[in-house]
Amino acid sequence: RGIHRFSTAAALEDPIKPPVSIEHTQLLINGQFVDAASGKTFETLDPRTGEVIAHVAEGDAEDIDRAVAAARKAFDEGPWPKMAAYERQRILLRFADLVEKHNDELAALETWDNGKPYEQAVNVEVPMFARLMRYYAGWADKIHGMTIPADGPFHVQTLHEPIGVCGQIIPWNFPLLMYAWKVGPALACGNTVVIKTAEQTPLSALYVTRLLHEAGLPPGALNVISGFGPTAGAALCRHMDVDKLAFTGSTETGKLILELSAKSNLKPVTLELGGKSPFIVCEDADIDSAVEMAHFALFFNQGQCCCAGSRTYVHEKVYDEFVEKAKARALKRSVGDPFKQGIEQGPQVDSEQFQKILRYIRSGVDSGATLETGGDQFGEKGYYIKPTVFSNVQDDMLIAQDEIFGPVQSILKYKTLDEVIKRANKSAYGLAAGIFTHNLDTANTLMRALRVGTVWINSFDTFDAAIPFGGYKQSGQGREKGEYSLKNYLQVKAVVTPVKNPAWL
Ligand code: NAD
Repeated sequence: RGIHRFSTAAALEDPIKPPVSIEHTQLLINGQFVDAASGKTFETLDPRTGEVIAHVAEGDAEDIDRAVAAARKAFDEGPWPKMAAYERQRILLRFADLVEKHNDELAALETWDNGKPYEQAVNVEVPMFARLMRYYAGWADKIHGMTIPADGPFHVQTLHEPIGVCGQIIPWNFPLLMYAWKVGPALACGNTVVIKTAEQTPLSALYVTRLLHEAGLPPGALNVISGFGPTAGAALCRHMDVDKLAFTGSTETGKLILELSAKSNLKPVTLELGGKSPFIVCEDADIDSAVEMAHFALFFNQGQCCCAGSRTYVHEKVYDEFVEKAKARALKRSVGDPFKQGIEQGPQVDSEQFQKILRYIRSGVDSGATLETGGDQFGEKGYYIKPTVFSNVQDDMLIAQDEIFGPVQSILKYKTLDEVIKRANKSAYGLAAGIFTHNLDTANTLMRALRVGTVWINSFDTFDAAIPFGGYKQSGQGREKGEYSLKNYLQVKAVVTPVKNPAWL
C-alpha cells in the first residue's frame, strides 16, 4: 500500500489536503447516528495547524444513559450474546474485511485527527486493526468452561458467560488500535459495549463502527459516545447498569475510575495506564543497532506511547559514543506534515500536550541535564516539536520520573547490572522495558529482575495480537490482547449437580 494517492501538486500544498471527507460526526446509539441530547457539539482540531476539522456531537450523561439502555437491551434480550458463537465470528471476520477495504480512508482520518504519519497509519495501524479483529473472531467459538472432579458424587461444570454491558474509555494516541484492543475481546465473548472515545480524536471510531454495523452487528451491541472525560466518561463509570469498565489513559484518571466504580456498583475495572520504561543498553551491545532501537522506542508515534522507552540507561563504557550517535540520529529524524511521504514525525496531538512537553524540556534544562539537540518548537505553526535528546540525566530529575509523552529522549549512565536493575525498578510505573545485549546470561538476569509487564530483548514495540500487554504497579491492572484479555470479559459460573449411582467417582 503506501501513499500512492498523492499527486506531486498535493505534496506541495501546506498543509496537504487529507484524502478523505468526514462522513460521521454524530453519536452512534442503537445502530443509529444521532445528535447529542443537549444538541451541543465540540470542535476537533487539526494538529498540523490548530484549525477546526469538524464539529462533533458532544455526548453527556443523558447520552450515556441512552447508550447504556441500548446496550442493556441488546445484552438482556439479544441477539448478540445469544447468537451462535460461529455467527458472531462471521460478523467480526466480515468487519475485518471491510476495515481492509477502507484502509486508506481510516488511515487518513487517523492522521488528520491525531497527527501521526500517514505511512504509519496506512501500513501498520489499520492493517493491525484488521488482524486484531480476525484474532478475536478466532476466539469467539473457542470459549468454553470445564468439567471438574469434585469430592463426592457430583457433576461439576463451569460456564464461561459474557459479563454484560461493558463501558470502555480510550485515549487519543492510537485511537483505532485502542478501540480494537477493547472492542475485539468484549464482542468476541458476547458482551455489549458503550465506548467513549477521546475528545481529541473522535473521528475514526465513528467511521469504523459504521463498518461494523455493515458487517452485521445488531443495533445496540456497540454504541459510540464522543465527548469529554469528566462528563461523558465519568457518567459511564458511575452508571449502575454498566457491568464492567476498561480504561486506557493516565494513571491519575485511572485512579478516578476505580473510585467511581467503588462508589457505584463495584464493577470490575481493567486499567492500562502510564509508564516510564527503561531501555537498557549493555556494554557488549552493538551500538549502532542499539541507538536505532532506542530511538524508535522513544520517538515512535511522536513519543506518545504509554510504553515509550523514556529512560535510556547506557553502560558507562559505551555512553559517550551512544550519546553522540543518538544525537546524530535525532537530528536526522524527518519532521513535517504527516501526510507527506517519508515523514517520521508529525505534530503532537494538541496544544495542551505540546505545552506540557515544552515545560518538561525547560525543567530538564533547569535541573542540569545537557540538551544535546532539539528543545523547542519545529516550524511556526501547529504542534510540532523538534526531536530532543538530553544526556547526563539523573534519576531524581523530573524528566526521568514523569511520563513526558513526547519526543524527548533522556540518556542516563550506569556502571553495574545490579545498579541498573535497582534504578530501573525504582519507579511508580512498571509497564515495559527494553534490553540490548548479546549476552544470554545478562539478558536472562535483567528479564527476570525487571518488575514490568513486557520485556523486549533486542527489540521494542512488537505488538502482535496474541501477545498480552499490561502493567505492574501503577501502570495498570489486568492484561489486554492475547488469550489473557478474554478473562476480563467473562464471568465464571460453577454448576453442581448430584449424580445418582455414578459409574465412577
Ligand atoms: P486522560 O487519562 O485524561 O484521558 C484518557 C481518556 O480518559 C479520555 O477518553 C478522557 O476523556 C477520559 N477521561 C478523562 N477524565 C475522565 C474522568 N474523570 N472520568 C472518566 N474518563 C475520563 O489522558 P489525557 O489528559 O488525554 O493525557 C494526559 C496524560 O495521560 C498524557 O500526557 C500521558 O502521559 C497519559 N496518557 C497515557 C496514555 C496511555 O496509553 N497509557 C494515553 C493517553 C494519555
